[in-house]
Amino acid sequence: MLYLAKDDPALAELVKNEDNRLETTLNLIAAENHSPQSILEVMGSVFNTKTIEGYPGNRFHAGCINADQVENLAIERGRSLFKAEHVNVQPHSGTSANLAVYFSVLKTGDRILSMSLPHGGHLSHGHSASITSKCFDFSHYKVNPETERIDYDQVRKMAHCLKPRMIVAGASSYPRLIDYEKISGIAKEVSAFFLADMAHLAGLVAANLIPSPVPHSDFVTFTCYKTMMGGRGGVILCREMFGKKIDKAVFPGCQGTSAVNLIAAKALIFKLALEDKFVRAQKSTLANARVMARVLMEKGYHVISGGTDNHQVLIDLTGKGISGKSAEACLESVGIILNRNVVPQDENTPGKVSGIRLGSSAVSARGMGEVQMQKIIDLMDMALMNQKKKAVIKQVKDQVLELCREFPVNGSGSTEK
Ligand SMILES: *Cc1c(COP(=O)(O)O)cnc(C)c1O
Repeated sequence: MLYLAKDDPALAELVKNEDNRLETTLNLIAAENHSPQSILEVMGSVFNTKTIEGYPGNRFHAGCINADQVENLAIERGRSLFKAEHVNVQPHSGTSANLAVYFSVLKTGDRILSMSLPHGGHLSHGHSASITSKCFDFSHYKVNPETERIDYDQVRKMAHCLKPRMIVAGASSYPRLIDYEKISGIAKEVSAFFLADMAHLAGLVAANLIPSPVPHSDFVTFTCYKTMMGGRGGVILCREMFGKKIDKAVFPGCQGTSAVNLIAAKALIFKLALEDKFVRAQKSTLANARVMARVLMEKGYHVISGGTDNHQVLIDLTGKGISGKSAEACLESVGIILNRNVVPQDENTPGKVSGIRLGSSAVSARGMGEVQMQKIIDLMDMALMNQKKKAVIKQVKDQVLELCREFPVNGSGSTEK
């Protein structure tokens, strides 16, 4: 970053520090990943300059000869990768994508049924702090308190009772597979549209490792920076019959000009997703999450739903007498980065955050495997159980650093130069 160092040395230093932070810590944030270096290149390319309004072949600004090709490439590759009828690659984010879906076929005030946030759902699924809840009338289904899995009978009952215009399936913290076929069937019973939000799961779906919601859904949304490893931005897949409505809802409905540099990154990751390296990283992500869940349970942690089918492991720390917040801080101090997370039982005591969420994507992208997962959980447990013992904490920190040096972000895994 030669130009940045000249224009703004202080900012250049922060970029360097961030690079260093990523190299020297273990990233267990389930929403993050390490992208291939080529993704960072294309996101920083001259396509930042171009403004596009409208769609390829029908723009409101001139000079789109290359941008049109980029967007068409992203659309074609996305369509083929996810076997979708229609693709919109313009959303700035997953939240933007969801907003556009709601506004494409609903009227403000219409009823939507989605998953409750403390039970795994997302802010953009009608949480009271999100604008989505001000525009539409949301009701939320929950997980079963015993199994900690989606209670499909409850979803059906609520759907029949509330008669929503749309049902949303998808979650930010839910470690199990979602039965899209079943929820789609329920949506059909009550003549509701069905949106599957696979923000967290797109990479695993792209690699064909978990079932795709596409055949069962009217709309599918996702973000590219989570398991998908493709940089920033959102995508909408939908049935052909909704294509025009979706395109209008994205632009000019919810957004102005879209980011061509990010559309280019989407085109790129849709190509890379077919390659062996991507599929291997996703396979390892799935296997590594299972190891983390197993080792945690062996150590007596309450793993929500008793395991995982994806890249996430959710832990309720109540039984260990540690809050989510203090666990997050303690682990950050030893270089293990994750986030505190609400768990289903927190709903009864607002403000309480009893859990932490782990994700296996970023450590898997670094090339780590089963042995390292075992080690990471050992270190995590050692830190949490000895928070006041400075010598132990120091020892854990040193071992985390050693592991990071052995599996560099740059030069191994996904970001090979
Ligand atoms: C992360 C996430 C989103 C939002 O994505 P942004 O790009 O951060 O707006 C939407 N839905 C779900 C289920 C998510 O987990």
